[in-house]
Amino acid sequence: MDGKPVHPHTVAAANGVADGDRFGAVAPPLYLTSTFAFPAYGTTSGYDYSRAANPTRDLLADTLAKLEGGAGAVITCSGMAAIDLVLSRLPRDAFVVAPHDCYAGTRRLLQARSARGSFEAAFIDQGDAAAMSRALKHVPSLVLVETPSNPLMRIVDIAAIAAQAKAVGARLAVDNTFLSPALQQPVRLGADYVIHSTTKYLNGHSDVVGGAVIAADAAEAEALAHWANVTGVTGAPFDAYMTLRGVRSLFPRVAQQQANAMAIARFLREQPQVARVYYPGLPDHPGHDLAARQQQGFGAMLSFELREGAAAARRFVGATRIFTLAESLGGVESLVAHPVTMTHASMDADALRRAGIGAGLLRLSVGLEAGEDLIADLAGALAASSRAGGPAPAPLKGEPC
Ligand SMILES: *Cc1c(COP(=O)(O)O)cnc(C)c1O
Repeated sequence: MDGKPVHPHTVAAANGVADGDRFGAVAPPLYLTSTFAFPAYGTTSGYDYSRAANPTRDLLADTLAKLEGGAGAVITCSGMAAIDLVLSRLPRDAFVVAPHDCYAGTRRLLQARSARGSFEAAFIDQGDAAAMSRALKHVPSLVLVETPSNPLMRIVDIAAIAAQAKAVGARLAVDNTFLSPALQQPVRLGADYVIHSTTKYLNGHSDVVGGAVIAADAAEAEALAHWANVTGVTGAPFDAYMTLRGVRSLFPRVAQQQANAMAIARFLREQPQVARVYYPGLPDHPGHDLAARQQQGFGAMLSFELREGAAAARRFVGATRIFTLAESLGGVESLVAHPVTMTHASMDADALRRAGIGAGLLRLSVGLEAGEDLIADLAGALAASSRAGGPAPAPLKGEPC
């Protein structure tokens, strides 16, 4: 497939397929080896040790770089390792601008590293142009963006932020986990790095934890690969094999999942127990027009607020039969999460209020089940949610996952 431009669907389905294997294997082999024989004194096959490079991992990296329109990619052992790898490229005394509603694990990492003096970090509302301009006056080295955000699906303008960042010499990193390259390609909008938790849509089957950084620039991709080997955060070959297997069906999975999500958003909006639905595909979502411009689809993540708050949320999650109560997202199966007691449990009441995350808020990761079954499941849980139950149990407390 080298040379000619290839449609992204073809890249996902077939990059590296039937690619000259000595037995004619159609599926690219899993090179489950830590080390590689030197054919002779002072020469290698191109590979010597799997921490540094491995053909299975390299094929996943090549596939993701092509899908994102980047010059190269590094596959890491988790999404957090991917973010930390980007942070490792910061110069001394750097200033980092992050979204105030970023992934809780990202916030924990930025806060922990800045507390140790690695850099300074500011968490701001990147949809607020004045706040963004104020932050850029401090000349950041890196601007980190997440769009859509978690859990309220706020959308920010990647191209506009890229232009602002470039004007002050900052690099732009976009966490593209919530949409995947099937629906958004930040490099085309000016990003220098794209970050993924491949745990989510790219692998798509809830059976691998992994990450990736795609760099727009080839020299930067080299530098990231070098540093990933130095610190040893590269992903395992088996995980890369599984993730590439997931990527093969990325486009049809995401297409079906977002069709289900749209039907669910429309259904939820009509229900008396639901105060508000947060889905960029709904025309009254504040980010709808921007999402329609910047994305190739509205994705399969949505949130909604139950009028009756925490007690109703507790009854709801106890009553679903198809939606499983779990963190994470992007798998073939549908999940429901209660941000206040799960993904956002580490935020205090004031931070939750400022972020607009209520006790009755529920987040859905919509899967590949039949849309009618999913809607029937939600209808049943909504009916159960408004029935008076017993006393509410103490909320769960935990670290962000
Ligand atoms: C899950 C997630 C991460 C962290 O990825 P892991 O694979 O869990 O380490 C980072 N960013 C976003 C947006 C995520 O959803």
